[in-house]
Amino acid sequence: MSKLALFGGEKAIKTNNPDMFKWPIITSEDEEAVLQVLRDGKMSNYDISMKFEKEFAEWIGVKYALTFNNGTSSLQAAMYGAGVRRGDEIICPSITYWASCTQAYSLGATVVFANVLEDTLCIDPDDIEAKITPRTKAIVVVHYLAHPCDMDRIMEIAQKHNIKVIEDLSHAQGGMYKGRRLGTIGHVCGMSMMTGKSFATGEGGMLITNDREIYEHAMVLGHYERYKKENIECEDLKPFAGLPFGGYKYRMHQLSSAVGRVQLKYYDERCAEIRKAMNYFYDLLEGVPGIKTNRVDESTGSNMAGFYAARAIYKPEELGGLSVTRFCEAVRAEGFLDCTPGCNAALHTHSLFQTCDVYNDGKPTRIANSPEDIRKFDDNLQHAETIGSKHFQVPWFKKFIPSEIEEYANAFKKVAENYKELLEGDPGDPATIGGWHFFKHSEKKDKN
Ligand SMILES: *Cc1c(COP(=O)(O)O)cnc(C)c1O
Repeated sequence: MSKLALFGGEKAIKTNNPDMFKWPIITSEDEEAVLQVLRDGKMSNYDISMKFEKEFAEWIGVKYALTFNNGTSSLQAAMYGAGVRRGDEIICPSITYWASCTQAYSLGATVVFANVLEDTLCIDPDDIEAKITPRTKAIVVVHYLAHPCDMDRIMEIAQKHNIKVIEDLSHAQGGMYKGRRLGTIGHVCGMSMMTGKSFATGEGGMLITNDREIYEHAMVLGHYERYKKENIECEDLKPFAGLPFGGYKYRMHQLSSAVGRVQLKYYDERCAEIRKAMNYFYDLLEGVPGIKTNRVDESTGSNMAGFYAARAIYKPEELGGLSVTRFCEAVRAEGFLDCTPGCNAALHTHSLFQTCDVYNDGKPTRIANSPEDIRKFDDNLQHAETIGSKHFQVPWFKKFIPSEIEEYANAFKKVAENYKELLEGDPGDPATIGGWHFFKHSEKKDKN
């Protein structure tokens, strides 16, 4: 193949079509919906949000949906709804965004981290089992980068140990697992709907469940205006109706719920186009050394929803040990400026989970309410600590335009085929790759 662009050759990618990556897709219908809320002065009401909840629940197939001001609060409410209280433990994968688990601190609970599987980046069910203690109240599973977790195994483990399963659907709204919608398989599910996510409303979150008790307890934490006697069946909650029980206010802004209602109408169709584009791209890369595609076999009834923040798996052993850092540098030179290694950094390594004393307990918050030092459970997470060197960002196409997708696939192929030229001058990988930030959508300037 032709000379690598890194060494002065012609770039493999010549197109620069901003529509290819633009997300969310906003039309005059979204704009009109927002303007209507403003004109009616209904920014703080919840009538539109309740319509959104009803439509969302019908779409995904659950009894109850509850809007939130963001994904973080929806997941905190999911934990509270699932019964997570002082002294309890939740098990969460170490590779995720902090908002999958850190809210447990404010409930007086703590986090035990589990490993993730190399080929799916999802929580390792064996490690869940290894980390269950008498204090484990819930498992948070993240369908990471839209890949469905092994829900059959996870539900079996949860049932055996009488533990609740909280799905964090922030990366995978609309995705399927063996013919079922993700988010409807566990006991409760929370998700982000902020602008960077697949399902984008602006700032927003949603909780879904089929369990009335979980729903009501999730509601009282931050929706005191809706916590009325006539809405409540749980005896323990009835005496406190109308009170700001959890002390929080988590209502969704109606500019967001108005956008959400419009986005929902087109969401499945837009995700289907993304999948068509991403599967075409990955088909072109099948068999290319060094690259393993990160997707599921759709004939099983599973899928990758909107391929949130798409990343492929890197196999350096197939490229003479070439570092992913060097590999990505060469791909960027070919014209895909977003090609960076890694994903979220391992949470358990962060000072917030090791030393930080958030509430002045005189000891790290992570063990403030624990009878033993659960940080010892971090000992087998070396895999999570080095996982950043085994993944790299691929284009997250929003449109199926074969000729343009082929240019991007050719860039990766060209680099893989010419890997030997890159071995010399390979600086290797830094000790840690990845960070604590959100994934971003569009092409931008090289940040390295
Ligand atoms: C974005 C994200 C969240 C948090 O959502 P916000 O809307 O930003 O509060 C939670 N979990 C995961 C996995 C996320 O990616």
